[in-house]
Amino acid sequence: MSQVLEPATSASLVRREVADLPAYDPGADPDEVAALSGARVIKLSNNENPFGASPAVAEAMRLRLTDGVSRYPDPTGKRLAEAIGKSLDVSAERVVLGNGSENILELLCQAVLDPGDLVTTQAPGFSLHEIFPRMVGARVEKVPVTAEFGFDAAAWCTALAAGPKLVFLANPCNPTGAMLSAGELERIVADTPESALLVLDEAYCEFARPVPEYPDGLAVLRGLDRPWIVLRTFSKAYGLAGIRVGFGVASDAALIQALDRVRTPYNVNQLAQDAAIAALGDQAHLAETVRRTGLELARVANRLRDKGLRVAPSSANFLFIDTGHSSDWVAQELHRTGIVVKAWREPGYENFIRASLSTPEDNDVFVQRLTEICAKGPR
Ligand SMILES: *Cc1c(COP(=O)(O)O)cnc(C)c1O
Repeated sequence: MSQVLEPATSASLVRREVADLPAYDPGADPDEVAALSGARVIKLSNNENPFGASPAVAEAMRLRLTDGVSRYPDPTGKRLAEAIGKSLDVSAERVVLGNGSENILELLCQAVLDPGDLVTTQAPGFSLHEIFPRMVGARVEKVPVTAEFGFDAAAWCTALAAGPKLVFLANPCNPTGAMLSAGELERIVADTPESALLVLDEAYCEFARPVPEYPDGLAVLRGLDRPWIVLRTFSKAYGLAGIRVGFGVASDAALIQALDRVRTPYNVNQLAQDAAIAALGDQAHLAETVRRTGLELARVANRLRDKGLRVAPSSANFLFIDTGHSSDWVAQELHRTGIVVKAWREPGYENFIRASLSTPEDNDVFVQRLTEICAKGPR
């Protein structure tokens, strides 16, 4: 029997889940902020490294450009995967590379989730921990943090009892910067049903590592007889955000093989692979970034608190700040002076901004402008 089909419109072709997806908010466009303010832009909206990548990165990329870029990249990224494996004492077969670690978040959802499956994550949180599951039709339950921005063990326990297929947990968390202790992480691991995949997103681990209570996720998960994956990235502490390369270390090679089936075969370009190998090889540069960021973290948080602002305790390279006014208004006012921050909009946090730590000079400008704006308030 023939059926008369309605002509499509672009909108009618789009899957329901996609039409309903919240858009990812990358923060204001620095070019627009430059045009608006007429000032030098201070970009504090994406938790980037203000000190830049290791000089070895540019050298490695230059060499590759000289060699030529007409060949496809190594589809398995074996040199990089081996370097990562060696640095973490795991076999390269348990390492997956991504076009940023967000690419791996997406691959995990594609490989693991069926429509209707439940995903558990935290709120306030990293929006892609919600967007990618919803893209494949999964449901997302977000566990709120405590009033002090901490991990709510009881709420997590209840949420995990609902039987998620996948758990996205960031440590340190984004946007709060809060850190789970070893005990808290072990508690989550114990409460996560064995039927679930545990994903520990450690995008900011390098900054938290100097904190004695910060647990090495790999060390905690390593011996477990269940599926898990730890995600890390070259975008933040290593300063390669523009290059797009992240990686995951999984409980076993079978999970990596599943991700290999769903990923686009050349997901990490050759310049990115070369850059990451060079960055990994310069641990002195990383240590210097972490040291300088740590100094600024303590200094800027203290100054803001001295001025009466509430700031979440952070172990990362950014601060989550209660401005006492609409975050959109505060961000707009800051944009007018050339400072780009991320206005938070999740329910209960509409007065918060997230601001990355930058150089001492830029941080001083930020503290001064923010405190002036907050003292003034909207008229
Ligand atoms: C920045 C960030 C990432 C991803 O960064 P990539 O640039 O894609 O590697 C992942 N998770 C969290 C929590 C982040 O803040």
